[in-house]
Amino acid sequence: MKRLAEALQQRRKETLYRTRRVVATPQQPELQVDGKSMVAFCSNDYLGLANHPDVIRAMQQGATEYGVGSGAAHLITGHSRPHHALEEALAEFTNRPRALLFSTGYMANLGVITALLKSGDRLFEDRLNHASLVDAGQLSQAKMKRYRHADPHSLRIQLETSEGGQALIATDGVFSMDGDLAPLPSLVELAHAHQAWLMVDDAHGLGVLGSEGGGTLSYFNLGLEEVPILMGTLGKGFGTYGAFVAGSEALIETLIQQARSYIYTTAPPPALAQATLVSLQVAGQESWRRERLKSLIARFRDSVIQIGLPLMDTLTPIQPIVAGSAQQAVAWSQQLESDGILVSAIRPPTVPDGSARLRITFSANHTDRHLDRLLDALSKLSREVT
Ligand SMILES: *Cc1c(COP(=O)(O)O)cnc(C)c1O
Repeated sequence: MKRLAEALQQRRKETLYRTRRVVATPQQPELQVDGKSMVAFCSNDYLGLANHPDVIRAMQQGATEYGVGSGAAHLITGHSRPHHALEEALAEFTNRPRALLFSTGYMANLGVITALLKSGDRLFEDRLNHASLVDAGQLSQAKMKRYRHADPHSLRIQLETSEGGQALIATDGVFSMDGDLAPLPSLVELAHAHQAWLMVDDAHGLGVLGSEGGGTLSYFNLGLEEVPILMGTLGKGFGTYGAFVAGSEALIETLIQQARSYIYTTAPPPALAQATLVSLQVAGQESWRRERLKSLIARFRDSVIQIGLPLMDTLTPIQPIVAGSAQQAVAWSQQLESDGILVSAIRPPTVPDGSARLRITFSANHTDRHLDRLLDALSKLSREVT
């Protein structure tokens, strides 16, 4: 254990040590964190549904009706009526023949990639893909290549110079740490030209992009033909917990038979599915939440440009401000914290070396006053930096 203690000490020295905070309130802009009141800009609860009264009520009723535990895996006796109804609702929401629930997005990605690819197959991933897609590639028997971020040219060269069995291209729809979109129309063309399957992980796009929250695919107007594999999570825009994969009958049946992270795990609580059924409805219908995000983002971007801090090119609620070194990012985050603003510093290995950042995210529940306070604190930062 001495070796571990030394490695931890080294981490501390490099400002890469991570700690957890204890939150004593539901997810909302104003949090009690380690006993302090803070306005938080770091949750993925973009639509503000994690603490929505109708969603809470649905979970309570679900618990009354179905209890808490599901008791078993989906293939034994864990697949209850609310799970089934939610899968049907997700298929309809994404306009796909079927959907399959997973316990988490991490497990969905592991399950899909290991179930679909075998030894000799080829997997192509964007370099900035979420860790779960990268881990899935490492777990699968396929040969994985990572192309330059959002660069179809780099992908094309890799497709042209590799040979083997089935090819699968996997990408985030909205990149989780940068907030930019994958160049999906170009990826669709390349997939078509090389008979590759295309998989989009739309953890940060669903609920947020598209007029009814249909996500990145709806933003680009792409369907099942163009993107046969869609993965979505329920713990971000939809405000609850879990994940799903949506696609053809053959895709979903293959996953039920072969995705080990689906088969060998306990089904999520049925009450959670009841809650998600309601949050899915609210997310689809209440477009004002997406409009609210747009206006917060527009005002934020205009003001930050005036303040003179470096923004990234993104239209999503993920609005990073790049600090460079881990030390700078942590120092900024601490300064904001002393003004009662909570924004996490994202450091390597979550992002590449030299691109540590403040990852600012917005929720439809942020008020103008919350945004004012953030902008105030940011303008102090910029004065202290220059
Ligand atoms: C959060 C996230 C996941 C993991 O989903 P969980 O349900 O939190 O396990 C997968 N992919 C992306 C792009 C994510 O942002």
